Amino acid sequence: MNTEAGKTERDAAFLARYGVTPAEAGHDMLMRMIEDMFAEGLVTEVEPFPETDREFSKLLDILRPLDANALREKLVISGWLLEPYGADKMRCQECMYYLVHKRWCDLPELNLPAKPDWWCRLWRI
Ligand code: SF4
Repeated sequence: MNTEAGKTERDAAFLARYGVTPAEAGHDMLMRMIEDMFAEGLVTEVEPFPETDREFSKLLDILRPLDANALREKLVISGWLLEPYGADKMRCQECMYYLVHKRWCDLPELNLPAKPDWWCRLWRI
């Protein structure tokens, strides 16, 4: 999906299904796209959790070059889940990047809507 042809195909599929691509989609439409991907079996890389700043930065370095339409890749690499994670039930609600009132993940490399009970491995407090 990293080739130009792959990207064109990906964007056309978003347009055909939703009428917009993720880059143009608003909050609710992005939520729908995300929930649809999980409903259709998307599996993300929840492990390993980045324990050090270096590991954390590495994940950001992978995410940063992705364009806004690379929604699936963003979710996979960030280890996104639609539920709290681990024994501590970590979730967006307590993450330093979460904008509670906007229901939005403000980490620039993600920049996506999120529900309070969702989580990803870039979670930080
Ligand atoms: S970085 Fe991850 S856990 Fe934190 S708000 Fe964003 S999606 Fe949620």
